[in-house]
Amino acid sequence: MDADKINKITYVVNTSLLGIVVFLMWFFYVCHATFLVYFSIPTICVYLIGYYIIHKRRLYYYVMMIYIWITIYMCLTVVCLGYNYGFQLYPLSMIPIIYYINYLAYKFNLKRVSSAVIVAGIIICYLGGTVYVLINGPVYEGNSTLSVIACCANSIYVFGLLILYTKTIMKTIISSEEKLKQMSYIDELTGLFNRHYMVSELEEAMKVEDSEAVAIIDIDDFKKINDEYGHNAGDYVLRKVSEVMQENCENAIISRWGGEEFLLIMNKQDDYFQQMEMLRGAVEQTTFEFEEQMIQVSVTIGLSERKNITSVNKWVQAADDKLYTGKRSGKNVVIA
Ligand code: GH3
Ligand code: MG
Ligand code: MG
Repeated sequence: MDADKINKITYVVNTSLLGIVVFLMWFFYVCHATFLVYFSIPTICVYLIGYYIIHKRRLYYYVMMIYIWITIYMCLTVVCLGYNYGFQLYPLSMIPIIYYINYLAYKFNLKRVSSAVIVAGIIICYLGGTVYVLINGPVYEGNSTLSVIACCANSIYVFGLLILYTKTIMKTIISSEEKLKQMSYIDELTGLFNRHYMVSELEEAMKVEDSEAVAIIDIDDFKKINDEYGHNAGDYVLRKVSEVMQENCENAIISRWGGEEFLLIMNKQDDYFQQMEMLRGAVEQTTFEFEEQMIQVSVTIGLSERKNITSVNKWVQAADDKLYTGKRSGKNVVIA
């Protein structure tokens, strides 16, 4: 959701509120609550002014005006008609909405209304209306049929609103959590697991009895690729090598260990060396074409089976040592 969408939603909200007020004006007329019929006229004006304020993108002032007006309007309705009509539920339903709108304002860096101040205002008005009605009774005499209809309709509307807002808030929380979780273990450029996640996988792998293997795959002369073809071409090569690894090592856990280095954990297999040799060959055979330029890419791979190794650091270091040997012996090789 962006600021434009919020503006459009505000137009829709304003129109629905205006529609509700017109309907209520008719309802108050039927109830012979003359004061409320007249009071609905300035209320309609408030919503018409609301369109102008939304158009000017002053959502802060719109929200403030609507909060204050709805609270006064609902409070006066309770004073005039009493509790039997269910209008007292509306200020309650506004509370989650106020907090949610405050969250949206924070998210989109808009001017914010202090939720605590608004909620305090609502509680004071709510108590004022309640105390008045309890002591004096409603201003207008009620009509039992109309009050039953109004009470049911208002209750259903308010419950519906509360359910809708709670669901929206839950959806927002769940999607943010998912996003955060993903960010914490996925490398953005390649979509592979990141180093942080891989360390915990390595620790898990250390606990398993079966011998597994770790491979460190380093792109050869990557700095030259960056220098000759540009940083974007380098990024393309990183993504493409990641794809080749995913296609060739379906059973391995693959991560971007850092820069142009990848670390793989391979599950128990017959021949790790053979598998890495296939991967090395696949990278060598792959066509890397970026902006109509052909780039020659190869990788050097250091492979270390766990066997008697007792710590993650030593295990990774062993693979790193093999990689170093491979680099010194001319690159584009697998050393086990
Ligand atoms: P060797 O064959 O010995 O591995 O040499 P190399 O050039 O591949 O290794 P070196 O460590 O000298 O250079 C790695 C380069 O990788 C340096 C750095 O700028 C580049 N690099 C690291 N991360 C990224 C990235 O996310 N994108 C791009 N385009 N380049 C990166
Ligand atoms: Mg390299
Ligand atoms: Mg390197």
